[in-house]
Amino acid sequence: MNDAPARLEVRAVSVAYGEVRALRDVSLRLEAGRSLCVLGANGAGKSSLAAVVAGVVAPASGRVLIDGTDVTGWPSHRRQRVGVAYLPEGRGIFPHLSVVDNLKVLLRRSVPSSARRRVLEEAFARFPVLAHRRRLPAGRLSGGEQQMLALARVLVAPPRLLVADEPSLGLAPRLVDEVFAALRSARDEGVTVLLIEQYVERALDFADDAVVLQRGRVAWSGPAAEATEQVAAGYFGEGAASPAGP
Ligand code: ATP
Repeated sequence: MNDAPARLEVRAVSVAYGEVRALRDVSLRLEAGRSLCVLGANGAGKSSLAAVVAGVVAPASGRVLIDGTDVTGWPSHRRQRVGVAYLPEGRGIFPHLSVVDNLKVLLRRSVPSSARRRVLEEAFARFPVLAHRRRLPAGRLSGGEQQMLALARVLVAPPRLLVADEPSLGLAPRLVDEVFAALRSARDEGVTVLLIEQYVERALDFADDAVVLQRGRVAWSGPAAEATEQVAAGYFGEGAASPAGP
């Protein structure tokens, strides 16, 4: 038995939007340093789960705990302060500041001055697209590039828990590769990752564990390697999106 509090624990959470019940009695546990992908068809409740963990949607019932602390009633900015980062949606990007200044804002908060230059260059090495645009106001980047900047910000100031809701949505295949490379780097640096992803194969290849949602309920949970076998056998049926992807 592992008695240490999990990085994230979701206990019997239900979410409703008026008459629509998006999540029903969902429970899961994510240990520090591990990565969990959430799979499911459109409308299964994946985004609602991410939103409830990030604190942008309040559950109708149930609890959310971060490192054993009950944060259920906390707004998202308070969760950010205990290390919960929510992607994508370009959150936290300052559109009028240049790309490089967007990164410097975070560096000033989280990295000692002697290391800032190195961390910045590492971020640009990881995201060449951003390196070329470093002087451009962030608001003038394309949607995909803004996504990259949001990820770069996560990497220069690694959170304790990264909640990434379809970070590759709408991106060209080359940028999808960059997103997954960045997620891997974050995980290698010890960031715990909750990933909502449409590309099942990529998600399972990345994650340690998987949860499949069906109509707002947990239909399956277990190691990602086992989920890969289940997907190959067609077991999840409508539960998981198409495994095809770029
Ligand atoms: P998708 O991949 O299509 O985003 P999802 O698995 O992320 O789907 P959710 O977005 O969490 O699922 O939606 C779950 C259910 O809640 C769906 O029936 C959806 O139509 C509904 N829903 C989501 N957001 C709202 C909202 N703001 N108001 C009303 N209903 C909503």
